[in-house]
Amino acid sequence: MSLEQNLAAAPPPVSGEGAEPGRNLIGLTRPELAAALVSLGEREASAPMRARQLWHWLYYRGARGFAEMTTLAKATRGRLEENFVIRRPEVARALESADGTRKWLVRFADGQEVETVHIPEADRGALCVSSQVGCTLTCAFCHTGTQKLVRNVTAAEIVGQILIARDALGEWPTPKSGRMLSNIVMMGMGEPLLNYDNVAKALAIAMDGEGIALSRRRITLSTAGIVPMIERCGRELGVNLAISLHAVTDELRDRIVPINRKYPLKELLAAARAYPGANNARRITVEYGMLYGVNDSPADARALTRLLRGIPAKVNLIPFNPWPGAPYGCSSPAAIKAFAEIINAAGYSAPVRISRGQDILAACGQLKSASQRLSRRAVRETAADGTPSAA
Ligand code: SAH
Repeated sequence: MSLEQNLAAAPPPVSGEGAEPGRNLIGLTRPELAAALVSLGEREASAPMRARQLWHWLYYRGARGFAEMTTLAKATRGRLEENFVIRRPEVARALESADGTRKWLVRFADGQEVETVHIPEADRGALCVSSQVGCTLTCAFCHTGTQKLVRNVTAAEIVGQILIARDALGEWPTPKSGRMLSNIVMMGMGEPLLNYDNVAKALAIAMDGEGIALSRRRITLSTAGIVPMIERCGRELGVNLAISLHAVTDELRDRIVPINRKYPLKELLAAARAYPGANNARRITVEYGMLYGVNDSPADARALTRLLRGIPAKVNLIPFNPWPGAPYGCSSPAAIKAFAEIINAAGYSAPVRISRGQDILAACGQLKSASQRLSRRAVRETAADGTPSAA
């Protein structure tokens, strides 16, 4: 069984009802929190209400410890302290770009690392969250794709990336308006639809109105095209969808986005067309990286408009961001402009994604953590549930 199949079959990492000393409360659903409280002796009848109080402290106030949870009885706080932890990932390194973009190298309890990026605008900002340590998809132009998949990121670790960003931005308690972390994009390292259960659980926590309270309309999930998961994502999560298209023929896409060999353009576009909740007011984002001399001709632009016919889409043109050793260059500004004009003329908006955080390698496709240093053997021996074996 390949590592990818292994991961697809992996059970959710957090399960079981009993209290395990040191168990992290972050990443648990409300019913799981209630069960955790029952395991400490809370009555079944009052557990949901207590879980709600706890939720308020964890995700509305951003509490880092139990002592500050003053609405809970002292004895309850003590029992929580003895049996549970509130664990965020560690910030191994924090970088800030000249343009205000911030990148955190986030280290998990087992030493694995991902990158999380905050892209601020005047009155809002998006957090780019990673869903896997490394990636299996090996897209030819993506830096993360040169890094082997090490493991899926757990729900707690996905939520943890949001919490540390909120900590750094000072956004506790959850502000009603004017938030600098106003949007989440699942566009960091990894393919979110190959780690669906953890992503779904984490996003449900982020969307809960009594906590982090980010609406599904402010969350965008980007996929390279794991077609069988797309409909489910729309139906269950209702978040915005972005697809990483990058090519208008299967011949080219097979080469630069190899998952296309499994799920070709026709199937991907059919899934986009059928995406639950997409309409003209809520369009699917089609990401298209501008690669010099590869996919950036006027003929490519015209073919793209034909492919998108009937799909409520907007095109996001992404100037290729170079990384050390990258085999591509970025299209010229004139080529990008001409490409955009053809798309516009067909009735689709085609903004050019302004590259942010390039000086700290935080731009699209530049993310790559130090976990690449892991030996091949350690990668192979990473267990299906994401915990590395003793190696
Ligand atoms: N696996 C998901 C999410 C991560 S990538 C996906 O493929 O959609 C986020 C976006 O950045 C994708 O559209 C990806 O194709 C794009 N990207 C990757 N490398 C890039 C690079 N070097 N320059 C510009 N965009 C890049």
